[in-house]
Amino acid sequence: MSILVYTENWEGKFKKSTYELLSYGNEIAKMMNTPLIALTIGNVDDNELKSLGNYGAEKVLKISDPKLDVFTSKSYTKAIYEAAKAVDAKVVIFSNNVSGKAISPRLTVKLDAALAAGVMHLPTSTDPFLVRKRVYSGKGFADYELNADIKILTLNTNSFEVIENHKDTVIEAFSVQIADSDLSAKPLSVEKTSGKLLITEAEILVSGGRGLKGPENWGMIEEMAEILGAGTCCSRPVADLEWRPHQEHVGQTGKVVAPNLYIAIGISGAIQHLAGVNGSKVMVAINTDPEAPFFEAADYGIVGDAFKVVPALNEAFRKFKQGS
Ligand SMILES: Cc1cc2nc3c(=O)[nH]c(=O)nc-3n(C[C@H](O)[C@H](O)[C@H](O)COP(=O)(O)OP(=O)(O)OC[C@H]3O[C@@H](n4cnc5c(N)ncnc54)[C@H](O)[C@@H]3O)c2cc1C
Repeated sequence: MSILVYTENWEGKFKKSTYELLSYGNEIAKMMNTPLIALTIGNVDDNELKSLGNYGAEKVLKISDPKLDVFTSKSYTKAIYEAAKAVDAKVVIFSNNVSGKAISPRLTVKLDAALAAGVMHLPTSTDPFLVRKRVYSGKGFADYELNADIKILTLNTNSFEVIENHKDTVIEAFSVQIADSDLSAKPLSVEKTSGKLLITEAEILVSGGRGLKGPENWGMIEEMAEILGAGTCCSRPVADLEWRPHQEHVGQTGKVVAPNLYIAIGISGAIQHLAGVNGSKVMVAINTDPEAPFFEAADYGIVGDAFKVVPALNEAFRKFKQGS
């Protein structure tokens, strides 16, 4: 019996979200008194793989197969299924990101398992297996009992801390037979946006809404993001108006984000927007309208004109960073 964590890599490197996931898996492994095993697919060097031992992984299963160089949910599901069977995994954990969301339902069917998608906390008990997850676009919580033999969890990004727990991890090659039929939906080309922080992983997000009047006014938003080492995002109308690219749109119909700090500038705080951001640890709203609904949800609010407040904040942040 074991706990299996799928550790996604980005061009051979792991990210903080990987270590969060392992830390989460390690706490469950302790609750169930069973080893934690990490699974990786792709070309990752052994030093990077060894780093997984710092977060509790006793073993790393490494699958390197050119057929898996490009992600398809069917082929990855097969590989993870084979690994889960081989290590008798009783809990399989994914990040609640694009690949986790694609693989976990398929794997649930193949393993006849029980799935809880988008968990944010440790199970309150592992026998029975009780977990809490967000529902209604983040507006409520629901408690679930998972009573299949195998449980599959997808963990929301930024919802668990990184906890170091060193183990001398063993790296083991694991091979799977990937048939052409497992690659039935094969991407022909993949275009990557480069150099930008992924908003689903950013620790700080500076977000702009229609209150900013037009795309030409985003300079001060980008400046704030640059000073704070943050990502930028926006409300849906801003993306619909093509002031900003659609990958920055957050909310019920956009990306769901959960940074440590979310700064909403000129955003009213409609329920559909809040649905995508209310997992943030601290929210700050800047709005001219003291009645804007965002002030109800925010931890801190500044009633004021963004065109005055944001440049003043940028100046203050710069001075603070320079230590004067
Ligand atoms: C089915 C459905 C799904 C949706 N999904 C999403 C979604 O995923 N994400 C999303 O964001 N929306 C979504 N929406 C739209 C949502 O309902 C709101 O219309 C939208 O969030 C409003 O965007 P906004 O706050 O940028 O603009 P507005 O509602 O126009 O608000 C602009 C705000 O800026 C303030 N302001 C104006 N000037 C200034 C200034 N100089 N300084 C500071 N503040 C200023 C105003 O007081 C106002 O509060 C959805 C709607 C529907 C019906």
